[in-house]
Amino acid sequence: MPQRYEVIQVPLPDLDPRRLAPLVGEERVGGLEEEAARVRGFLDGRRVLNLSSTAHGGGVAEILHTLLGYVRHMGIETAWLVIEGDPDFFQVTKRIHNGLYGGPGDGLALDAAARGTYEGVLARNSASLLAVVRPDDVVVVHDPQPAGLVPSLLDAGARVVWRCHVGIDGENAWSTRAWSFIRPYVEHAHGFVFSRASFAPPWVPRDRLAVIAPSIDPFTPKNADLDADDTLALLRGAGFVAANGPSRDVRPAHVVGEGATPGPDEPLVVQVSRWDRMKDMPGVLEAFVEGVPASSPARLVLAGPTVDGVDDDPEARAVWEETVEIWRSLSAQERSRVRLALIPMDDLQENALVVNALQRHAAVVVQKSLAEGFGLTVAEAMWKSRPVVASAVGGIADQIEDGESGLLIEPDDLAGLGERITRLLENPLEAERLGANARRRVTSRFLPDRHLLEYAELLEHLLAGRPLA
Ligand code: UDP
Repeated sequence: MPQRYEVIQVPLPDLDPRRLAPLVGEERVGGLEEEAARVRGFLDGRRVLNLSSTAHGGGVAEILHTLLGYVRHMGIETAWLVIEGDPDFFQVTKRIHNGLYGGPGDGLALDAAARGTYEGVLARNSASLLAVVRPDDVVVVHDPQPAGLVPSLLDAGARVVWRCHVGIDGENAWSTRAWSFIRPYVEHAHGFVFSRASFAPPWVPRDRLAVIAPSIDPFTPKNADLDADDTLALLRGAGFVAANGPSRDVRPAHVVGEGATPGPDEPLVVQVSRWDRMKDMPGVLEAFVEGVPASSPARLVLAGPTVDGVDDDPEARAVWEETVEIWRSLSAQERSRVRLALIPMDDLQENALVVNALQRHAAVVVQKSLAEGFGLTVAEAMWKSRPVVASAVGGIADQIEDGESGLLIEPDDLAGLGERITRLLENPLEAERLGANARRRVTSRFLPDRHLLEYAELLEHLLAGRPLA
């Protein structure tokens, strides 16, 4: 008998949406509260469960922590469950994840053996999951990792929505292969949610498809206001800024770099991402070294979580090592312009505070993803009124209006990236204008109240048996 895995229930905070009022206005919060009362009415005691593959690291965990905290406060019974897996399972799911982004991942097959690994782990989770699920529950299953549990949930009588946070516009051979793997599990779900309509494959019935963009929370340690002194103190503590002033006692990042640590006034160009090939850290490095003049005082910081810090991300170590190798191959002068950093994940609040400080302190934030469902890091930097240069891929193209609330480049345009970064470094007024517009854009479109209202509409249509579109 294989060992049984236990789905784990993640504790949820209790978050009063009233706290959003100073940022979005009384009217928006009042509208949300009214909607919550309606949702309580039509849910009529039903629970809304969420199922995902990790409680920390990456965008989905980031979103669920706070969004479900508001849901709970508004009197809607909700829970967040996380499956257990092993390294072989996460290797397969990472291959699927990369495939849905149109990439080969580790290049290995998604064949019967991969299916066996995938289904085997999910089967071992199913007993403990089904012990929790009731026939009148609504279950939102997030991403490919737990997607193979959708059929069991349907058999248990639940209303099941599959929420896919990844995707590419159109398709290629890798995405087609990944979709063939996933489709048999999810195709009978009652509802599908994608961050963009163009991410949904053609076989998803349009009347079962809802398009909902993610959101960020302005009060998490990642996004909450920090004044300039706090910001610098955190960066000194973590080792990103020279320690010649007040410093906060946080775990230091593991920094690979040469030469003096930047002073508080030296501009930093920053990309914060998981060590994932789709984030193209090496591309940012190359674009900076080649495209930003050596005479510029700016330094590049590429930062991500420690490489064993994210459960469902087995590629992180390899991507980190490849990036370090590329850095090593630079000239001494170039090496001194670039720092690579691993931010500890032992204490997630501390990690988030350091990321917050880095994004806030950055002169320019970059997100050179090759594919992106929705760039949380982009929204986070925009919220902090930072000028962002990002690839015009996937959800990012909906987040930034080029030239208005940030700058967009084609994902393979290294010269264009270097040129945009240089332009922003040399034009503080332009950078400030883009940053201010970015903050307004996030306020109007990417905060939790908008996200929750769209989920409310989805639930209403789902339970009434109406088309979701
Ligand atoms: N992140 C973090 N610590 C790190 C690196 C990244 O908390 O050291 C966060 C980042 O701030 C963002 C999330 O991880 O909130 C990544 O989400 P995104 O949508 O950018 O990419 P994903 O990881 O979902 O592909």
